[in-house]
Parts: sequence; C-alpha cells; structure tokens
Amino acid sequence: MIRRIVTDLVELRQKSELIQNAQELSGLLNDLVHTLDIQNQRAVGLAAPQIGIKKQVALIRCGQDRFFLINPVIVDHGYHDVVSKEGCLSLPGFNIPVDRWVEITVESGIDGRRTTKTYTGYTGIVVQHEVDHLNGKTILDRKHRRRR
Ligand SMILES: [Zn+2]
Repeated sequence: MIRRIVTDLVELRQKSELIQNAQELSGLLNDLVHTLDIQNQRAVGLAAPQIGIKKQVALIRCGQDRFFLINPVIVDHGYHDVVSKEGCLSLPGFNIPVDRWVEITVESGIDGRRTTKTYTGYTGIVVQHEVDHLNGKTILDRKHRRRR
C-alpha cells in the first residue's frame, strides 16, 4: 500500500517502538518500498514513522546498497565527522547542512538475532539520517553549527 508522507513535526519528533517479532513487519516492508518508489525516484531512504507507523524500521536505497534496518542502534563511530547537505521527504524545501560521522557501527535486528555492521561514506550518512527518524530526530535537530 502506498502511504502518505508525514510532514507534521510534532509527529516526526515521537520515538518509534521496537519491533518485537517478525509478524509486525508483515505489509510494512512492502509499504515502505512502494511509497518510496512513488514518492521520489531519487530518494535514498524512508523510515516507518515517515509513513505514519511508529515502529523501528527503515528502508535504505543508496546505489547498490538496498536493505532494511530493524531496531538499529549506532553502537560506535570513527573519529571523523563530516558536514552533509541533506533534504528529507518529510521536510520538503529544506536542504541543510548536518553533522554526520564518516563511519558508524550499527547493531540491528529483532532481539535474540541481532547483528553488527559497519557503514561508511554516503550509505553511512543515509543510515544516520534514518536512525534519527526512528528516534524522533530530523535534520532540523542536527543542523550544523559553525564552530569557533
Ligand atoms: Zn528524512
């Protein structure tokens, strides 16, 4: 099912619930794929709360990297950060500089079957953007501030 994109900041700032079992994913994964397909061919990610479902699932579609993230937690990051200029399907018209890590390690999956993976470069940045959505954060909350 193609769902409407949530653009309401109050709603976007709520934290999503953990996925407890695989049945909860039924339908949801397809809804993410179909909604992203119809919304914008150039969009590289979509999180469940952006289609009105406050559960910790996101779709990443970044070049050759295509995967779902379930209950992701960033458990580690490298020393370097980067300023990334980002837009968001939920915040049309915004394209703002955001602070991101160059390399992150993410633990994800349903309890008891969790795995750890490291992401770098653009895919890593997209993962950080989507993990933020699941935690109720948007690019507006991550805006880069010039350091003294
Ligand atoms: Zn977004």
